Amino acid sequence: MLSDKDRIFKNLYGDLGADLKSAKARGDWKDTNKILARGHDEIIAEVKASGLRGRGGAGFPPGVKWSFMPKESSKPSYLVINADESEPGTCKDREILRHEPHKLIEGALIAGFAMRAHRAFIYVRGEFYNEGLALMKAIDEAYAAGFLGKNACGSGWDFDITVHRGAGAYICGEETALLNSLEGKRGMPRNKPPFPAMAGLYDCPTTINNVETISVVSTIMRKGAKWFSSFGREGNTGTKLFCISGHVNNPCTVEEEMGIPMRTLIEKHAGGVKGGWDNLLAVIPGGSSCPCLPKDICETVKMDYDGLKEAGSSFGTGGVIVMDKSTDIIEAICRLSKFYKHESCGQCTPCREGTGWVLRIMERMVKGDAEIHEIDQLWDITKQMEGKTICALADAAAWPVQGLIRHFRAEIEERINSYKQSLKQEGAA
Ligand code: SF4
Repeated sequence: MLSDKDRIFKNLYGDLGADLKSAKARGDWKDTNKILARGHDEIIAEVKASGLRGRGGAGFPPGVKWSFMPKESSKPSYLVINADESEPGTCKDREILRHEPHKLIEGALIAGFAMRAHRAFIYVRGEFYNEGLALMKAIDEAYAAGFLGKNACGSGWDFDITVHRGAGAYICGEETALLNSLEGKRGMPRNKPPFPAMAGLYDCPTTINNVETISVVSTIMRKGAKWFSSFGREGNTGTKLFCISGHVNNPCTVEEEMGIPMRTLIEKHAGGVKGGWDNLLAVIPGGSSCPCLPKDICETVKMDYDGLKEAGSSFGTGGVIVMDKSTDIIEAICRLSKFYKHESCGQCTPCREGTGWVLRIMERMVKGDAEIHEIDQLWDITKQMEGKTICALADAAAWPVQGLIRHFRAEIEERINSYKQSLKQEGAA
């Protein structure tokens, strides 16, 4: 278990103050100009060496992303920070926005400098009203202290931050939809290529990073890549914010070492499963789009990218949704199908039509009003949605259903059979 001295987010629960003075007392903004004096390439090299992978879901290394940005360009470069946290089961970035905003702002300056950007945009989920206010207050403090603006931190580098509020669409968390939304267009994902590093915001070189990713950069630069990579294992290094919700005694967001066993995470930090570990039915390990895992896999699985991939799921955002045996798992997954259908932007046929087909079949499966062969049909539909669309929303809609069929096929069959049985009895009566 991670010890308190190794926690990056020391004010995750808001006990110590989010203001500049309190943040400085925790070590933020200490000699930031010395970090910047190490130069663009050295900062990128340090972040690469730390093994940090993007904390927004895709897990792409930010240091590598930053190195795609042009060293010379006739156009300005932009850093865009995705604070549109909308994945059900995920509530970590909001804690940073309201309790550790200076970590995000300082990280934005360091990351922006590394990729040669003079401006960052922070796209905040519309529903995060108070979090947006806390962030803007912290940005004002940073400007007043000379940490942002002209000659930021006395580094000779000019750096500005603009906060933009979203309007609540889940799809705007997809990076290119977010760019469209920032530009005032409908939040619809763009085809790639061109990738944002070549033509992103306003057609300029752009890197989009998650809030948590950017917020750990200053600590990595102070304590070193070696320190960060001493947590976890190769390809899965560092510490991570986990959000644990659902049927646990103490739902929480907590910073832990990558690779912590799921059972330890739930029992040590979330007070265990309601009714005890043996009352566990399944866990969605990384936000609602990740396939659920049954209890026997949860027993031993490690909470990191490789551990969850090997288990047939995905690490996602680290949003752990726990379901005990009182859960109607078919209905729970059906609810997610409804969510993804509602949030599809409708550009791609496999997503627009597929999410509707999946929902309609799932709704019948909840009642048992289906044929056994439709389980395979449902599986086939999800396979025809996956990987065939502009963005990953179709995959996000397909995976929970695939997880259900993979691990709870017997429950679906039983529901169908008992529905048929009840119809027969009604007919006979
Ligand atoms: Fe829109 Fe779905 Fe296509 Fe993504 S996959 S672009 S949400 S239709």
